[in-house]
Amino acid sequence: MKSAELFERAKKVMPGGVSSPVRAIRPYPFYTANASGSHITTVDSEELLDCCMAYGPLLLGHAHPEIKDAIREQVEHGWLYGTPVPLEPEFSELVTGDHPGIEMLRFVSSGSEATMAAIRLARGFSGKRDIVKLEGGFHGAHDGVLVKAGSGATTMGVPDSEGVLADLVSHTRQVRYNDLEALESLLSSNDDIAAFILEPVMGNVGLILPDEGYLAGVREITRAHDVLLIFDEVITGYRLGIGGAQVKFGVVPDITTLGKILGGGLPIGAFGGRRELMEMVAPQGPVYQAGTFSGNPLSLAAGLATIRWLHEHRDVYARLEESAKAIGEAVGERENGSFVRIGSMFKFFFRDRPPADYMQAKECDTGAFGKFWKDMYGRGIFLPPSQFETNFLSTAHSERDVEQIGDAYRECLS
Ligand SMILES: *Cc1c(COP(=O)(O)O)cnc(C)c1O
Repeated sequence: MKSAELFERAKKVMPGGVSSPVRAIRPYPFYTANASGSHITTVDSEELLDCCMAYGPLLLGHAHPEIKDAIREQVEHGWLYGTPVPLEPEFSELVTGDHPGIEMLRFVSSGSEATMAAIRLARGFSGKRDIVKLEGGFHGAHDGVLVKAGSGATTMGVPDSEGVLADLVSHTRQVRYNDLEALESLLSSNDDIAAFILEPVMGNVGLILPDEGYLAGVREITRAHDVLLIFDEVITGYRLGIGGAQVKFGVVPDITTLGKILGGGLPIGAFGGRRELMEMVAPQGPVYQAGTFSGNPLSLAAGLATIRWLHEHRDVYARLEESAKAIGEAVGERENGSFVRIGSMFKFFFRDRPPADYMQAKECDTGAFGKFWKDMYGRGIFLPPSQFETNFLSTAHSERDVEQIGDAYRECLS
């Protein structure tokens, strides 16, 4: 097995053998040789139907021809200049036009960078120190958001990683998702809170949906307490539709972070918001933010081609939703778990009812998930290898693919 050999080599020179932790599938991860549409081909010539889609970015599938052309064309002109490029105003106009919560934006190179800058901006604008996040909410791998779950809202945050200073997360509070009372109580007892940052639909603990009225309630409470609302739409942006969760749920945040789909599969991130906020960002204002690869032409070209394609094919969102629904119907009602979906995101939780927050998600039978994952892999279906990652469909998934996924779910769960 070539994958096994490659992993043996990698383990000696790379921590855990991988470039990002979730990829360290046991006993060894498959190595990809090639990918196209909805399928991955491994170096061992396995053909896998992909429901991971690189953890979200590949809404149009692998190696989409129009994105490939856009990248190729940009490559001909060079791929990094350290100067502004015409793609920047063009892409920014498109993205601001799509999002009611974004009047101006800054491109960065990853979602982590975007949330880090968004939090700094919120602090710089408000002059306040604390931030609130959701328990189990994921915003990338930087210090201020790596807080242990269970660190209560009223106590100071506890680091969730060695190397993160307790001082750094002492200003990070956490509340439960779908719990407006906890948010209200925290915000009314602490007047040093700059922002509440949340994934409007939780996508990094499996998939957890907002209760009816939750996001509108969050908007009301944060506004009443003069706390900035940051929607981390790194997953939901262009995934739940053009305009992401803020359009779908009709709730407008003060600051939005984007990433993943925005780059069409190349590295990107962006943060944006109301004009008066974004005018605080350097060089226009005093909140510093910079990056060598920010607004790099290759990512912008791939991203712009993706978003333009979506504008021209708006009906794909309805079709994607139908596909996820069909998988849910194939799964049916089950005693050993629950199926959750929104748009083209779906997840089967090994828990009798869909979780409403992180602590409930943690009650899942992860042993059962591990066995299920292997069975699915044995049937040629690649799911993200964790109970706490979400599955994604792409426009490249055919009706036959969707049927195959549904059948495999039914068989492997029975
Ligand atoms: C993936 C993700 C991030 C981090 O993005 P990177 O590009 O991996 O740094 C931040 N927030 C959310 C909600 C994400 O899903």
